[in-house]
Amino acid sequence: MVSTMSVKSITSTANPQIKQIASLFVRKYRTQAKQFVAEGIRTLLDAQEQGFVPRTLVYLDDMGGNKHVERLRGAMGTKGSCLEVSRKVMEKLTGRGNPQSVIGIFDQHQGDLAGIAAHKAGIWVALEGVRDPGNLGTVIRTADSAGADGVILIGEVCDPFSIEVVRASMGSIFNQKLIRCSCDEFLVWRSKWPGMVVGTHLQAKQGYRAPKYRKPILLLIGNEQSGLPENMAKACDTLVKIPMRGRADSLNLAVATGVMLYAITDACG
Ligand code: SAM
Repeated sequence: MVSTMSVKSITSTANPQIKQIASLFVRKYRTQAKQFVAEGIRTLLDAQEQGFVPRTLVYLDDMGGNKHVERLRGAMGTKGSCLEVSRKVMEKLTGRGNPQSVIGIFDQHQGDLAGIAAHKAGIWVALEGVRDPGNLGTVIRTADSAGADGVILIGEVCDPFSIEVVRASMGSIFNQKLIRCSCDEFLVWRSKWPGMVVGTHLQAKQGYRAPKYRKPILLLIGNEQSGLPENMAKACDTLVKIPMRGRADSLNLAVATGVMLYAITDACG
């Protein structure tokens, strides 16, 4: 597809459009704009395959004419804008000395609990109070890898659209549905959810391979410091524990999610 969109060349870090994009690296402004930044040709091409087209495409001035950039521009049609920038500007935008050559500004995508149709649902992951962006990005990537439908973020959590989460998700942010809700909203929704809810808990009496897993299924994972709160644990159909055979008392939550998701997919097919 050949683009008909005009390209603006920018070499000044003081340019207002550059300042607006730079503001998306700050949670407050990102939330206000309901947009986020994703970096790298591979990620942007993956996004495009999932139907996500950037509002703004920014690329280094030596990338003009590059076939991947042309493909991304072509998909934008006449919508949005295209900025060709100097390395200095890209470094300022990404906060990196060795920046990616292409970044895209996307609308944030978010669903709600009511949109999870039980008859179509397969596997969902729910994280309570996740704080670490690296953990959240890794969970999104792992959920995508295991073929889950999406990730529910419960309570006070880190921003799923921060650059750290997007980077750690390695493009999977575009392939997972994301839902944010409060604990109360989750518990009300859960009381009507006909699927199986499995909680992971260090005090669980049974091992993680013991239950008869069946879809639709929701896997509930606790916070890094305090684990699953009691009301969340009580809302589960079953609690399971992954054996800890060494001296460590728990797994990193993203690792626990990976172990659980593959046990579930092995059991459910
Ligand atoms: N000190 C916390 C606690 O008491 O639960 C540790 C939290 S752990 C780092 C974060 C989450 O990962 C837990 O809430 C649980 O959902 C999951 N997790 C980690 N290790 C686990 C294990 N061995 N068995 C089951 N779940 C585990």
